[in-house]
Amino acid sequence: MKSLNLKTKLLYLLLLVGFGLVVVGLIGYINIQNIKRNMDTLYFGSLLPLSELNSINATYHNDLASSIYRWDNQRMSDDQVSDKIVTSLERINQLWGSYTSHHKRPEEMTYITYTETQIQSINNYFTQVRSLINDPDRSHPLSLITMDENIQSIQSTISQLISYENAEAKYEHSMLLTQYENAVMQLIFFLGVILTLVMGLAWMIFSRIEVQQQQLIESSETLKHLNLKLEQASYTDSLTALFNRRYFNVIYEREFKRALRSNTPFVFMMLDIDFFKQYNDTYGHLQGDLALQAVSKVLKTVLQRPGDYPFRLGGEEFGIILSDTDCKNARIMGEKVRTSIEHLKIEHKGSKILPTLSVSIGGICIVPTVDMGEDALIHTADTNLYAAKERGRNQVVFSNKL
Ligand code: GH3
Ligand code: MG
Ligand code: MG
Repeated sequence: MKSLNLKTKLLYLLLLVGFGLVVVGLIGYINIQNIKRNMDTLYFGSLLPLSELNSINATYHNDLASSIYRWDNQRMSDDQVSDKIVTSLERINQLWGSYTSHHKRPEEMTYITYTETQIQSINNYFTQVRSLINDPDRSHPLSLITMDENIQSIQSTISQLISYENAEAKYEHSMLLTQYENAVMQLIFFLGVILTLVMGLAWMIFSRIEVQQQQLIESSETLKHLNLKLEQASYTDSLTALFNRRYFNVIYEREFKRALRSNTPFVFMMLDIDFFKQYNDTYGHLQGDLALQAVSKVLKTVLQRPGDYPFRLGGEEFGIILSDTDCKNARIMGEKVRTSIEHLKIEHKGSKILPTLSVSIGGICIVPTVDMGEDALIHTADTNLYAAKERGRNQVVFSNKL
C-alpha cells in the first residue's frame, strides 16, 4: 500500500491530540481529587482536631480548675461552681465527640482510646468533686492538690495527642506538597510526550505535503512540456518537420490580414517537384521520402527570416509565405530556392529535363486590398505553377497581379 493519504494522517493527528487532551485532563482530575482529599485530611484530620483538643485543655484549665479555685476562695457560690462543672464537662464531652467524629487513621486509635479513658476518668473525678461541693456535710475535704494533679495528668495526655496530631499535620502537609509536585511533573511529562508526538506527526505530514507538492510541480512541468510538444506536433509535418497544411491555413490568414492592414506586399509561392512520380518509380518510395526531406531542408535553410514560412502542403507540394518582403526580393528568393535544389544534384534518371532533381515554382506578390479574396492568391500561384510546368519545369513563374 502506498503511504497513507493526508486526510487519514490529519485524522490520526487530531485523534492523537484529542486522546492526549483526555489523558492529561484525566490525570489532572485524579490529581486534583487527591490533593482535595489530602487537604480535607489535613484540615479535618489534623488542623481542626488540634483546635478541639486545645479547647478541651483550655476548658479543663480555665473553666474547671479556675472555677474551683475561685470557689475555694469564696468568690463563687456552691451552686455557681456546680453549674460550671456541669457545663464544662458537657462542653468537654461535646468537643471530644466532635474530635473523634473526624477521620482517624487506624494507628491513631491507640492514642485516642487511651485519651478517652483518661478523659472519662477525669470527668468522673469532677463529677465526684461536684457531688462533694453539693454535699451539705462535706464529710471529705476537697484536695486542690489532687485536682491539680488530675488536671496536669489529663492536660499532659491531651498534649501528647496534640503533638501526635501536629506531627501528622506536618506529614500530611509534606504529602500534599509531594503530590502537588508529582501532579505538575506528570502533567508536564504527558504534555511533553503529546507535544513531541504531535510535532513529529505534523512534521511527517508537512514533509509529505512538500514532497507531493514537488511531485505536483514536476508533473505539471512535464504536462506543460508534453502540451508544448503536442502543440508543435499539431502544426508540424512528421516527415519533413516543416509546418503542415493545418498551420498553413492559420498563418496564411493571419499574414494576409496583416499585409492588408499594413498595406505591404504579401508573397505566396507554390513549389512542386518535377517528375516526382517517376522519381518514386525509379528509386522507390523510401528514397522519395528522403528527397522530400532534402527539399525541405533547402527550404528551411534558404527561408530563415522571422517572416518566412515554408510549409508542406501535401505530397510533393510545398508552400512558401514571405511577410515583409518586397516583390523583387520575393522573386529572388524563389529563384534561390529553385537553384539551391538544383545544386543538390540529386540523381533523377526519370526526369525528362535534367539528370537531377528539380522543382517548379509558381508565385504571386501583391499588396492585398479588401475586395481581394484570400483564395484568389492561391489560385494565381497555382496557375503560375502550372505555367512553370508548361514552360518546361525547373523554373519560377511570378506575377504581381491576380
Ligand atoms: P510534375 O512534374 O508534373 O509535377 O509530375 P509529377 O510526377 O511530380 O506529378 P504527379 O502529381 O503526377 O506525381 C506526384 C507524385 O508524388 C505521386 C506520388 O507518388 C508522389 N508522392 C506524393 N506524396 C509522397 C510522399 O509523401 N512520399 C513519396 N515518396 N512520394 C510522394
Ligand atoms: Mg504535384
Ligand atoms: Mg510534381
